[in-house]
Amino acid sequence: MAETTTTTEVRGGQPAVPETEPEHKRERLPLGPLKTVHVFWLAGMSCDGCSIAVTGATNPGIEGLLLGIVPAMPKVLLHHPVLAVESGDHFVESFKKAADGTLGDPYVLVFEGSVADERIAQRTGGYFSAMGVEAISGEADYGAVKHPVPTATWLHRLAPGAAATIAIGTCATWGGVPSAAGNPTGSMSVMDALGKDYRSAFGLPVINIPGCAPVGDNFTETVFAVLLFLQGLGPLPAFDALGRPAWMFGQTVHQGCTRAGYYEEGSFAHEYGDPECLVEIGCWGPVVNCNIVQRGAINHMGSCMKAGGVCIGCTMPGFPDKFSPFYKTPPGAIVSTGLSRGVGAVVRRLRRMSNKEGNREHRWDVFNEVPSGWGHVPDRTIMDRTIHFFYERWQQMGSRRPGRRPGEADRFWGVDRPGVKGDYLDDSMTREDRDDRH
Ligand code: SF4
Ligand code: SF4
Repeated sequence: MAETTTTTEVRGGQPAVPETEPEHKRERLPLGPLKTVHVFWLAGMSCDGCSIAVTGATNPGIEGLLLGIVPAMPKVLLHHPVLAVESGDHFVESFKKAADGTLGDPYVLVFEGSVADERIAQRTGGYFSAMGVEAISGEADYGAVKHPVPTATWLHRLAPGAAATIAIGTCATWGGVPSAAGNPTGSMSVMDALGKDYRSAFGLPVINIPGCAPVGDNFTETVFAVLLFLQGLGPLPAFDALGRPAWMFGQTVHQGCTRAGYYEEGSFAHEYGDPECLVEIGCWGPVVNCNIVQRGAINHMGSCMKAGGVCIGCTMPGFPDKFSPFYKTPPGAIVSTGLSRGVGAVVRRLRRMSNKEGNREHRWDVFNEVPSGWGHVPDRTIMDRTIHFFYERWQQMGSRRPGRRPGEADRFWGVDRPGVKGDYLDDSMTREDRDDRH
């Protein structure tokens, strides 16, 4: 019996050419409604942190999409190298069908990790990241020897026919850590790999959801929004000039930070664990676009600053080089914290006085006593009373002060008060009188 060697030998990665260049985009597909959408997930130079982040998304959760129970959403079939039940050739089969146009349903392509320059690996007969093996047509031993297919190659095969291509995580969106200065892999982002002219089959450039790891909900919400658009049920969500969801990345970390009030008052942490603003121990939040503090890392809980960590700019295209060394005061912060310290020292003291006054009931002021068994609350000093007197006048200028004016008490006692005309159904009261009461 003849010996078969077709699947026994696997050598280095496939040549990166000619598939390093994206194909011309295929015919633009009409918009929905769609019954089923496949999601093909590729991992390049990645740590799988993005996959973990997405499986932890809760609002919306990925389960609803996969089970097809979200109203107006098509059923989503996920082909993920880690989460799939199939393995080997069975798993790769659907990717091949999508690449050669025989899948029968539209698909979305998701890329996690950066795209390595496989030509570099090929010089030594290796590869950086790959999925599946294939024989290379034209080779003398065609069929006998198979080569790993780089995920960069899959990207170039699948991106032109995808309804949308989504780069998830900072490695895929901007190159991230694998593309840091001095890296030996030539790694780059999906946008860099596909080029400026890339458009999906629905006419979309690459959609970028950055973060290292990204907020899982940022990804699932964007997928929902894009699927609604593909269904023809919603407008194309707003993306900024770098393809980020504009409603998520339009603000800086600082603008939503729970510690921003400390910054404003010129109070800064000296070491980790302090509750104040972390800028002097290395926080880049004032110049970084990220929504993690408002959204929470997972299930609306946690985030870098809430957990006591500084922002190192992980969502930014300049990360990591433009934000290193980490944990050192950013030079720009020296100017702004100096100004904030000067203004904050005054503002802080004034606010403490108002805060002290707001922590007293009106009744406690009248009787000059705070009946608390928890501790001694100091009485108001003459200075407190004087300042508050003028502050209150200023506060209520042009408005009616709380309480009743002389003579009003009689009216408000109502019909039961002997000898006094009640205000209920009191025809003698003018409309102005009644309005004035409110
Ligand atoms: S910890 Fe960072 S983001 Fe928060 S207030 Fe301070 S500088 Fe801004
Ligand atoms: S706050 Fe900074 S370090 Fe934290 S996720 Fe956002 S960009 Fe990254």
